[in-house]
Amino acid sequence: MSFLVILEQRQGAVKKASVDVWHTVQHMVEVLGKTDVYGLVMGDVDKNVIRSRCGGKGRIYMLNDAAFHDYCPECYAGAIVEMAGHTNAENIFFANTAMGKDLAPRIAMRLDAALASDCVIGLDGNGLLKAVTTMYAGTVSAVVENLKKRAVYTVAPRSYSFEGLGENDVEILEGKGECLSKSNSVLKGVIYNKGRKDITESDILVAGGRGVGSSENFALLESLATSLGGVVGASRSAVDEGWRPHSDQIGQTGRSVAPRLYIACGISGAPQHLAGIAGAETVIAINRDREAPIFKVADYGIVGDITEVVPLLERAVCDFQRMK
Ligand SMILES: Cc1cc2nc3c(=O)[nH]c(=O)nc-3n(C[C@H](O)[C@H](O)[C@H](O)COP(=O)(O)OP(=O)(O)OC[C@H]3O[C@@H](n4cnc5c(N)ncnc54)[C@H](O)[C@@H]3O)c2cc1C
Repeated sequence: MSFLVILEQRQGAVKKASVDVWHTVQHMVEVLGKTDVYGLVMGDVDKNVIRSRCGGKGRIYMLNDAAFHDYCPECYAGAIVEMAGHTNAENIFFANTAMGKDLAPRIAMRLDAALASDCVIGLDGNGLLKAVTTMYAGTVSAVVENLKKRAVYTVAPRSYSFEGLGENDVEILEGKGECLSKSNSVLKGVIYNKGRKDITESDILVAGGRGVGSSENFALLESLATSLGGVVGASRSAVDEGWRPHSDQIGQTGRSVAPRLYIACGISGAPQHLAGIAGAETVIAINRDREAPIFKVADYGIVGDITEVVPLLERAVCDFQRMK
């Protein structure tokens, strides 16, 4: 088997979602043994950042052409198809981000490959690649069978780290890419929430729902998130109430997140919300209703009012940090 992972950058920073895919693939390679694994970064990214964030084995190609700095579907697709040919990659992985979802079908078409979207990937009992996708807001799972020589996957966010993968033995090759597109150009780039970490990039998320009660009460969550080094997200109800911007919304019609720690405050746990947090490693729920469905998926639950529990939690975090 041979794998090619597309490592996504935005403004020179590698996206956590694609680094998680790289490490998911590395965990499979660890089991499979001799497998060719390649990464591709397009755009101007610091080589040392790639080295420190992408551990494991294999070779990462960096195409540092300025033409790749901004996302251009046509020239990115051209470079990926060329790289797939060069590496002879049978399985091509994208993170299930807006860019991944845009590029994957183009690549599948051009390579006459199968396409599987929003999958959790792993190995089956026979050591073969297994992709499971979910439907109906995560309530139905389907195993995807690939009938073609090649397959392209967009991988659902999962919190995955390099831990346990042994020594970092990745070879990095820098090259010049050529943008073949003459018909596309970026007119204007818009950066939302400038200066604030994106919810999909943070390892710690404190999310609030209708139970937070008001936009003012979100200050409690902001304060807890800051003490933990995380950021604040929201349920759709909190967004619909106008308490948070849509870019903070987590769930089926919002963003999918994969933090190492997710603290759900005053969120009931509707399937459409849970669809966006399936990749979270540890979930803590705070809700005053002990029957709330969120407790069924939570690793830890606190029954109580968020206006009392959240400040207590923050104080405990600060006390703990002072002790260190
Ligand atoms: C097609 C479709 C797509 C959708 N997409 C999304 C999506 O992307 N994301 C999303 O989140 N939802 C989505 N929804 C909406 C979803 O079905 C739920 O309505 C929504 O998630 C509920 O948000 P909530 O948990 O904040 O509010 P509620 O369901 O109203 O829950 C509020 C919770 O807060 C608790 N509470 C109240 N006061 C306090 C307090 N003081 N302290 C502690 N707990 C308190 C209550 O016990 C309750 O459990 C979608 C729905 C549809 C139909």
